[in-house]
Amino acid sequence: RSQQANSPARVSSLLLGRTFSTESNPIRATLFPGDGIGPEIAESVKQVFRAADVPIEWEEHYVGKEIDPRTQSFLTWESLESVRRNKVGLKGPMATPIGKGHRSLNLTLRKELNLYANVRPCYSLPGYKTRYDDVDLVTIRENTEGEYSGLEHQVVRGVVESLKIITRQASLRVAEYAFHYAMAHGRERVSAIHKANIMQKTDGLFLKCCREVAEKYPEITYEEVVIDNCCMMLVKNPALFDVLVMPNLYGDIISDLCAGLIGGLGLTPSCNIGEGGIALAEAVHGSAPDIAGKNMANPTALLLSSVTMLRHLELHDKADRIQEAILKTIAEGKYRTGDLGGTSTTTEFTKAICDKL
Ligand code: NAD
Repeated sequence: RSQQANSPARVSSLLLGRTFSTESNPIRATLFPGDGIGPEIAESVKQVFRAADVPIEWEEHYVGKEIDPRTQSFLTWESLESVRRNKVGLKGPMATPIGKGHRSLNLTLRKELNLYANVRPCYSLPGYKTRYDDVDLVTIRENTEGEYSGLEHQVVRGVVESLKIITRQASLRVAEYAFHYAMAHGRERVSAIHKANIMQKTDGLFLKCCREVAEKYPEITYEEVVIDNCCMMLVKNPALFDVLVMPNLYGDIISDLCAGLIGGLGLTPSCNIGEGGIALAEAVHGSAPDIAGKNMANPTALLLSSVTMLRHLELHDKADRIQEAILKTIAEGKYRTGDLGGTSTTTEFTKAICDKL
């Protein structure tokens, strides 16, 4: 599998079939620049797309200043309608205040658009040395329930309760997606990650659903790994893993761990898969408030996410060219952002990519 790693076709079609409209030329796609470093890295994507002559017209939507009663969050109804209409989009990070405040914008998006699976490919980048050079795995995170159900309340003073919801329907849906993805991408193994020894009912149901789906795919090796052991194995020998499928919170944590294996959050793309054929690509990382507005952010994760979007749109030539230009720029090492040990600004790094297109 290490030969497959790093080939431009790694992040290929998202298996939703053709759900977008190609009647309009340019193709319309929704763009949420998001918060913090979001607008800076979204600008990189726009520049790179212009340089590569990508036939996409962005419908840009910003987070609103007031709560929209129809979404109960700062996301406007119009912005959600835009994704529903276009079926394809790119999203920058959105900040959520800790412990108080409005409903998370990310949760609103996931719930309103029923974005049930979050696909996070993670592979060693050629020419960028980390402890491992053979990471090539994909985490598939259930995206709609688990600890993210938003059901939290105070029972009595000093005691709070948070409900973890696992349903058969959502577990089967994400497991089916994971096995289907594995088959279509020539992957050999699916590992279900869980803590069913303790969370016997919730993770137990998740595992039961994964087993049920696994039986339909005898070509794929299926295994179950307890989350704590999975962390240790990933850090010791990430090549043991191929496709990992897991409940929501575990996916959030494990995918950041995986990002750390290949050089950090500035590098890892993802895509949210929704009912009705929606594909909303986004970087794994957050709004990085510590470096926002300083022209320091690494736009690679969002750029590689946009490449995922292009592959979904079957614009493979454009996707190949852009991915190659990004990987070459990183491998050459002359222009790298601070998170990769370089001194380039976001703008300089973006220009170096554009010059290769
Ligand atoms: P973060 O991912 O924003 O940042 C973690 C660390 O990684 C920081 O040191 C940051 O500078 C660095 N980093 C992240 N992206 C980078 C990039 N592209 N280039 C260089 N360095 C980068 O995580 P956090 O600080 O825990 O969260 C900040 C905010 O983002 C919070 O409000 C959180 O809720 C939100 N968040 C949003 C999303 C999303 O929109 N999908 C995901 C995670 C966190």
